[in-house]
Amino acid sequence: MGKELEGKTISSETESKPSLQLQFEVSVFDLYKHYYQVRLTVETNQNQICFCLPNWTPGSYMIRDYATHLHKFEAINFTNQEPVSWEMVDLHRWKLNNLPPKFEITYIIYAFEDFTVRTNYLETEFGFINPPALFLYPEGRLDTPTTVEFKVSEFFPNIYTSLPRDENNFHKFYSNHFDELFDSPFHLSKKNSVFFTAGSTKHELLIEGDVSFDFKTKLSNDLQKITETQIQWMQESPNQSYLFVLNLSLPAYGGLEHKASSINYFNPELIHDDEEYKRLLELLSHEYFHLWNIKRIRPIALGPFDYQKPNLTRELWIAEGFTSFYDAYFLYHAGFLNLEEYLNKLQSDIFSLEDNDADFWMSLEESSFTAWTKYYKRNGNSHNITVSYYTKGGVLALCMNLFLLQESKDKKTIRHVFHKLNEVFVKEKQRGFTKQEFFDVTKEVTGVDLKLEFNEYLESPKPIPVDVYLDHIGIHRIQTDLVGDTGFKTKEKNGNLYVQKILHKLNYESIDLMLDDEILAINGKRATNSILQKLEKNLRPGEKFHLILSRAGKIKETMVTASGFYKTRKFVVSEDCSAEKKELREYFLRNIV
Ligand SMILES: [Zn+2]
Repeated sequence: MGKELEGKTISSETESKPSLQLQFEVSVFDLYKHYYQVRLTVETNQNQICFCLPNWTPGSYMIRDYATHLHKFEAINFTNQEPVSWEMVDLHRWKLNNLPPKFEITYIIYAFEDFTVRTNYLETEFGFINPPALFLYPEGRLDTPTTVEFKVSEFFPNIYTSLPRDENNFHKFYSNHFDELFDSPFHLSKKNSVFFTAGSTKHELLIEGDVSFDFKTKLSNDLQKITETQIQWMQESPNQSYLFVLNLSLPAYGGLEHKASSINYFNPELIHDDEEYKRLLELLSHEYFHLWNIKRIRPIALGPFDYQKPNLTRELWIAEGFTSFYDAYFLYHAGFLNLEEYLNKLQSDIFSLEDNDADFWMSLEESSFTAWTKYYKRNGNSHNITVSYYTKGGVLALCMNLFLLQESKDKKTIRHVFHKLNEVFVKEKQRGFTKQEFFDVTKEVTGVDLKLEFNEYLESPKPIPVDVYLDHIGIHRIQTDLVGDTGFKTKEKNGNLYVQKILHKLNYESIDLMLDDEILAINGKRATNSILQKLEKNLRPGEKFHLILSRAGKIKETMVTASGFYKTRKFVVSEDCSAEKKELREYFLRNIV
């Protein structure tokens, strides 16, 4: 593939240390066709350079083949406008030979495939650039500084990013190396941002989409409280400035963390619903906490990055799980969730683990290690076999904190462990930690051997006995009304019922029921949603019911035995517990662990 063109070349090998200067210019090639154009000016004394486009974005663990969207690659000698010879050496790398001292690479990036926080986007109201999906880097030279200048002001007057700006040109930015560039997304907009201060950090909030001034003010005030709570928890503001981008243009949900910014997408139709608004705050709280947990305090595999292949780690239960525990815990402590709402959040995670078989199929470490091929590549059976390092990691963080509260002297918790990890690994050693180092620091800070207590849940597919740990603070499970459950979920299409989800349960027989089977009749009656609901309402555990199905044009019959579940189940604060447990509970709920 590619092309071999003869060009007049001047090679400069007079200096032993290869010099390399890179300047990017980004423009809109065609707004309505969603094309960016990138122009890269290179000055070098090297004879040959391989330029690569990353395959993935840190924080989003999937190979995405960003080069799919790179088109019309060209390289031209700056002095004589002759082509520079190049060839594609694999699907993500362009090798340039016989280099002149100054040349220009140009290419087009298509930016409308997917509206997500890790893909480029370009439409009439805004543009988004996820740098790993747009900027080529020189192989082996990720340490090269770059400038990025935008020529987009006729479409988008404002450019939001965490990179420093040129004093005289507000559309020109500097990065010290490619790790910084790739961690600094750009949002191009017609909107204006608002500012607030928390700790010593100046925070900027840009909302894309049509929202009222009142909403902007409210969200900005709420974010101030959340960020202040987290800064107090960590006892530091590591950034001088921090940028929140919240895109409310289209129905979407997702966030991506960066060292000095986060990109967040949320459904604009939901923001005025009280419960959904709290879900939005939880998302923003989650991404903000990552500025410490993963962007600074991190498992050793998560940086420096190989942008061509997966950086595998077994410790996403810390990076994502602990963040999932703290996002809601901070909301509770900042006053956005009351105790009942907070307990509801905890129990919905606990129940979602209990309701699926995956906890018996996959350990937390396997869940983390295989995120690239399993968690990020979900299918109709994933809930049965793939445990979430977010959900189970969050439940683990809760249990670890409760265990530490009970066992440690002076109530030392994960908070104190994080302070120490920050001091030792971020500030002194400037690297990530291994699993053993995490447990060593925990033991040093708290005096408690967390590895001894919890390692089996990391290495084996085994449910965590949550009730045991919640009992340390006198929170108990109530479950009544054992009722029958069909074991499957349906979707309705044109008045017909189709099997959408099958819940595999340990100890229950395998039934002849498949995804996408059409349910024609239930216990001899034409299947409708109301007939199914009636069955579900009256079903007893162990009761059998009869289905007639249509599968690939053939009629099938099957008998299903109902499984059981508790219709009423929740965790409640118990007054019937020791004074010691009450005191620990007060501590967990009043102080921030
Ligand atoms: Zn996260």
